Amino acid sequence: MSIHASHPEDVDSAMTLAARLPPLPISRGKLRRNAVAAGPRDISSQWLLGIGAIVVAAILFLTSALSLGVMLDHLREQMQRVEHVQTVILQTHSVEEDLEDAKAAARYSLRHGGGLEMDLVRIEGRNAARGLGALISIVPDEAATLKAIAQRIDGQVAALSSGIEDNGASRAIAAFRAKQSAAYEDSRAAVDRNILFFIAFASAMALIGPGLGLVGVMLLQRERSSRRTREMQKELMHVQRLAVMGETAAMLAHEVSHPLTAAGNYLSALRRNSAKGDTVKAGELGDRAAQQIHRAATILHRLRRFIEKRDTERGPVAPEALVHDAVALVGPLDGDVTLIAAADPDLPDVAVDRIQIQQVLVNLIRNAIEAMQGCEVRRLIVTATALPSSEVEFSLTDTGRGLPADVAAKLFQPFVSTKKDGMGVGLSICRSIIAAHRGAISAEPNPQGGTVFRFRLPVA
Ligand code: ADP
Repeated sequence: MSIHASHPEDVDSAMTLAARLPPLPISRGKLRRNAVAAGPRDISSQWLLGIGAIVVAAILFLTSALSLGVMLDHLREQMQRVEHVQTVILQTHSVEEDLEDAKAAARYSLRHGGGLEMDLVRIEGRNAARGLGALISIVPDEAATLKAIAQRIDGQVAALSSGIEDNGASRAIAAFRAKQSAAYEDSRAAVDRNILFFIAFASAMALIGPGLGLVGVMLLQRERSSRRTREMQKELMHVQRLAVMGETAAMLAHEVSHPLTAAGNYLSALRRNSAKGDTVKAGELGDRAAQQIHRAATILHRLRRFIEKRDTERGPVAPEALVHDAVALVGPLDGDVTLIAAADPDLPDVAVDRIQIQQVLVNLIRNAIEAMQGCEVRRLIVTATALPSSEVEFSLTDTGRGLPADVAAKLFQPFVSTKKDGMGVGLSICRSIIAAHRGAISAEPNPQGGTVFRFRLPVA
């Protein structure tokens, strides 16, 4: 059996996507709310954040590059100072050594009476004086101290020939060296501290700058993808609207066609009876035609309200009355179709829109009768039973051909039909109506052959 899918022209392409959408119908109010939710404000603020992050990252990069340059210069100066103090200490040390050598030579000369050693004393004394001269040129700030030390050294060298070894020159120069050593330690410590700070600052900048830039790029990427999502949502909403329009049109045509056909039949019969002069029968037929037309108008009115606002007239109705009404609405059956309606009169009421649930039952009964055409046994059992879950279950068990496998998978989707003139919206309307009543509908094969449709409704 082939599937005949009835597609109104204007929703042809829309239906491909509509199949992936949530159950219809969707109220227009909801669509509008969705459109407002994805406003352009969110997107531009995200874009601004992204650009802001990139600009801050660039500024950070530039300032950190400049700061690192300045810091490097400062560090170089500090290291030069350390080297300078080191030179001063070495030079001072050499002066101290010259003085010590002079003292040793004098000691030797006095002990052994050698004139040669006294010459050596003078030479070492001169070396020490020259060394001090060099020191003054290296540290002019200390010129006064160094000149005083030079005088003491001269005095010391002169006194050595008389055996005087200590006039305070050695202590003075040792004190000068100690002062320079302390300055050296301070400068070294400052350099070490600055190198540490330099490494920490460079590492932090290396992490923060690119990190912030990356965040900015990611925000821009996200903004781009949310814009794309928004465009897609817009397209989907457009398609949904088309699909809802298409389904609405098909629903109206489908639901209204039955009472109008029945009214047409009654009017034809009325004309025949009028021609025969049977005015009583003609009057009765006229009343029935009017009832059907009124019913068509009621269906149109409620269907429109249901689709647009989901606002229906609900009240407690006895399940037995619903089954009884539906069987009556289906009208006379072919002679060989047996319809058994078995609803317990003591069942609790269900809170429903009576007309809509009648529509569901009439649809399911008509489908079952059509599915049983040409079958040997043609029996339909309609029941209503109470469930422990405070629900009433309606079931329709037929002995028809059963559900075609390819239809079963998408049974409740709109525009799926195996009938030549079928619109394929009946079951999707049933599903929408039952879902709006907080119920559920399903279908399964009848183990004895045929199909069982069931739907549940909460009790009032
Ligand atoms: P339509 O009656 O216009 O085809 P429906 O949505 O009411 O639209 O039904 C869709 C299809 O489901 C039918 O064409 C038919 O193939 C299948 N179907 C529905 N009810 C039955 C049933 N009781 N037994 C077998 N097939 C069924």
